Amino acid sequence: MQSDTISAIATAIGEGGIGIIRISGEQALTIAEKIFKPRKYNSLREVRSHQAAYGVIIRPDTDAVIDEVLCLPMYAPHSYTREDVVEIHCHGGVMPLKEILALTFEQGSRLAEPGEFTKRAFLNGRLDLSQAQAVMDIIQSKTEASLRLAEGHLAGRFSEKIQSLRHLILEMIAHLEASIDFPEDDIEDLATDAACKKIMEIRAILQQMLATAKTGRILREGLETAIIGKPNVGKSSLLNALLQENRAIVTDIPGTTRDAIEEYIDIGGIPLKIIDTAGIRKTEDLVEKIGVDKARAYVNRASLVLAVFDFSREISAEDEEILQLIKDKQALILLNKTDLAGKFALERMKSLAGQHRVIEISAFAEQGLDALTEEIQAIVYDNGIQPDGCFVNSVRQVEILRQTELYLAAADETIKQELSADFIVIDLRSAWEKLGEITGDTVGEDIIDQIFSQFCIGK
Ligand code: GDP
Repeated sequence: MQSDTISAIATAIGEGGIGIIRISGEQALTIAEKIFKPRKYNSLREVRSHQAAYGVIIRPDTDAVIDEVLCLPMYAPHSYTREDVVEIHCHGGVMPLKEILALTFEQGSRLAEPGEFTKRAFLNGRLDLSQAQAVMDIIQSKTEASLRLAEGHLAGRFSEKIQSLRHLILEMIAHLEASIDFPEDDIEDLATDAACKKIMEIRAILQQMLATAKTGRILREGLETAIIGKPNVGKSSLLNALLQENRAIVTDIPGTTRDAIEEYIDIGGIPLKIIDTAGIRKTEDLVEKIGVDKARAYVNRASLVLAVFDFSREISAEDEEILQLIKDKQALILLNKTDLAGKFALERMKSLAGQHRVIEISAFAEQGLDALTEEIQAIVYDNGIQPDGCFVNSVRQVEILRQTELYLAAADETIKQELSADFIVIDLRSAWEKLGEITGDTVGEDIIDQIFSQFCIGK
């Protein structure tokens, strides 16, 4: 247990109905007791764990009332951090929150570092590392599907899967080591054969998990999407139709949407991180040129390109240039303005489109957007899996799984070369330790610090 007591404002700073200050550590109750005067009790100590008491926060030296509050004590180990925790629910303005926080400092606590409450929950064994990361993912989740994924991780479904794999590896190690101790029998051969099969099974599971990583990452971080097309084809209108509010500039003058705008949009549960572009157009105008160059850069950066074309005009050389640009990209071709009379040679477009799907839409009439949503979902859930909480969703986890798989491949190779069981055990041990980094069982303090430093203060 950490000995010092920490406190922080746990709610977002700004004006709100209520704001919460959280105190955690051995002195949490002593500190809260000095500044909180309950209405119905003599002291906070009389309030039962997890029961809120009404009262006021006072300045202990002058008895001046700071705010009217609810005070909620949670006794160790039944709290978020497993330490004594007190939450003070006051009015949600900057001043009451700051003053009450300052009072907790005067009484002996210190400001919590970012993520320190969750770090204590981890160090005290309430959450493993993957679950602790899920806490942050829940806070930052962008769509319902992202939230479901993060909640699955917090509930421990992902950790359980990892633990069961570690258990299988450990079993193999035990069998192999036992066989080493009895060299006279042919136990070693049996153990090696069994290990060979097990390793294959585990590698298959790891590969399966890695295959979900792309989807997991998209749900957590968003899919980088570029909307490209000539000026005036309706890129901004499409963006607006998708956002259903006017956060991008819509204009009648060609080439005025010059600044890149980044937005997240929830498309059927998938967070699209939108990069709006100035449109691809050959031009001498310097500002526009930057826009065009950027568009090319965005196409390279984007994981998905939505290429917009104007159905009410004929296919131009620029349109063909755009098609050329997205030839090898994951892209959807959107024929916009289908509410107008079509001049577009649809069949020709379909032949130019290559492997890309062509979707007819009208940003104006909000037509075809459902079909667009379905296409995007099909791309993200490419193997039909829906989030069940077992997706790998961070670069760190992907890297660990990949390295674990490599250690197992090495073990397999060692077996094939008919080297002694000692050598197989070395590879397996490395795999077992590597996998433990996901749950935090085998992870260094520096990594832990680095992970929690990405959290917000008060979490
Ligand atoms: P951008 O330059 O590609 O971003 O194009 P805008 O979104 O600014 O649209 C250019 C013009 O086309 C505007 O006058 C829009 O109102 C119009 N527009 C966009 N989408 C549609 C559509 O689906 N139907 C019709 N009729 N007009 C559209």
